[in-house]
Amino acid sequence: MLNSSTYYAGAKELESDLAKFMQDIIRIPSLSSEEGAVIERIREEMLHVGFDEVTVDPMGNLLGRIGSGPHVIALDGHVDTVDTGDLSMWDRDPHSGDIEDGILYGRGASDMKGGVASSVYAGALLKKIGIPDNVTLYVTATVQEEDCDGLCWQFIVNEDLLRPDLVVITEPTSLRIYRGHRGRMEMEVNTSGVSCHGSAPERGVNAVYKMAGIIADIEKLNEELEPREPLGKGTVTISEIRSTSPSLCAVADGCTIHLDRRLTVGETEETSVAEILALPSVREAGATVKVLDYAVPSHTGLTYPTRKYYPTWDIDEDDPVMDDAKIAYRAAFGGEPETGFWTFSTNGVATAGMYHIPSIGFGPGHEHFAHAPNEQVEVEHLVRCTAFYTALVETIAGQQGEQK
Ligand SMILES: [Zn+2]
Repeated sequence: MLNSSTYYAGAKELESDLAKFMQDIIRIPSLSSEEGAVIERIREEMLHVGFDEVTVDPMGNLLGRIGSGPHVIALDGHVDTVDTGDLSMWDRDPHSGDIEDGILYGRGASDMKGGVASSVYAGALLKKIGIPDNVTLYVTATVQEEDCDGLCWQFIVNEDLLRPDLVVITEPTSLRIYRGHRGRMEMEVNTSGVSCHGSAPERGVNAVYKMAGIIADIEKLNEELEPREPLGKGTVTISEIRSTSPSLCAVADGCTIHLDRRLTVGETEETSVAEILALPSVREAGATVKVLDYAVPSHTGLTYPTRKYYPTWDIDEDDPVMDDAKIAYRAAFGGEPETGFWTFSTNGVATAGMYHIPSIGFGPGHEHFAHAPNEQVEVEHLVRCTAFYTALVETIAGQQGEQK
């Protein structure tokens, strides 16, 4: 085990290799379902720094292992990014990987190739100092998160590839320790009508008019949702509306709205569907509600269908894994950590929300740069995360009562 003050020094020694690796993976575009090339580059780096075993699963997730002790810890980061958006909003090429004044720029810098790079280098540091005998560390570089958070972990757990005792979600936390976030789900509400010639609308029933009251009720519902500790208030918004009719000179016979529902504590798929079905306008219109499915092939061609329901999760401030994380933080940096929650959603919806695997968040960069132009991360954050992850593995090994 390192002296407590030397985790940071150990990580700092790796800074230039870590930063170069991060630049490389920023320079490889990796939209969801197009992660093959970046997965290959990360695989190469894991082998280069001495991981014991590196495999790509059938979905295309990369699983790197170090050690073979009974207590299994996973550092998880997704390698897909959203697209660049309007290029005129960027001050430099979104895939430049430029470093200037200690800031590294590019799509994926905060969300979240930085977490992946730091995790791989925590593996490198642990290989150097020796991983404790009672721990197995997995670094999971996972796919399709931007499209369907948690799907990768549904595959990993359901297919018996891995079920860790602790998952660290390495999405950006501004170096705070996070303990959950709101869940989400996607639903459609559908009304039907009877089409007829647009010159005599009184002969038909217009599905769009039937939807009008529902739209007003959903706007009101959003205002009425109650805040609940510790995650605040759920929300609902209409993200799309569309209708069908035999022609543009006819009464619409179908109308559909797409709902983006964010879920706070105690709100589930069942409660949210029931809440929509109970709206007076929905009952009056005889509208139907459907939770949508996700079924898009991964970069390896595997389709693993799931419902678009991503459960809320949070763990207590005084949960034992929070204690371990705080001890590790003090060991790495000497100060007291801040704790908090993400605004957005992560793979924790599966690890913690579906499988109840203890999960915490700690990652480089900042949530407000996610999906934004001029995305960036402090190189110093990458170093600090490498130090923290290494300290966490050794802290947990110590708590398990055995030492190398
Ligand atoms: Zn992310």
